[in-house]
Amino acid sequence: MKYTSPLSSLCKASIENDFHLIVDCKFKRVAWMRALRELELLNRFPTLMQVWQFLLLSEKNALKRRQFHTLAIPIGVILAAIWKYHWQCVIEGNPWSLEACLSTVRSQRFDLGLNFHDFDCLV
Ligand SMILES: [Zn+2]
Repeated sequence: MKYTSPLSSLCKASIENDFHLIVDCKFKRVAWMRALRELELLNRFPTLMQVWQFLLLSEKNALKRRQFHTLAIPIGVILAAIWKYHWQCVIEGNPWSLEACLSTVRSQRFDLGLNFHDFDCLV
């Protein structure tokens, strides 16, 4: 695999820094927001900066917060789906598929038997 450009390998429009790679690429932004909405987590993560801060453990007392372990699972499910399809695009040369990404999130949600309605109380 060649890294001939500092630009995002997906959108080719922005420098691919860590934030862009994980969260801020235009394709991933839509995937995060749609998945957060489906998992009823938009109250807790109304912006992607809050997702980023959660991932970086930069929220105050991040690991000590009672809700951390509960939220780590659904956020991890979304991150894993986005990560999977990022590499399918970069390595396999497939076009980005929002629906495939969301389908993976739904399937994981089902497999894990998570009831995301419980998160309403975590705002
Ligand atoms: Zn991009």
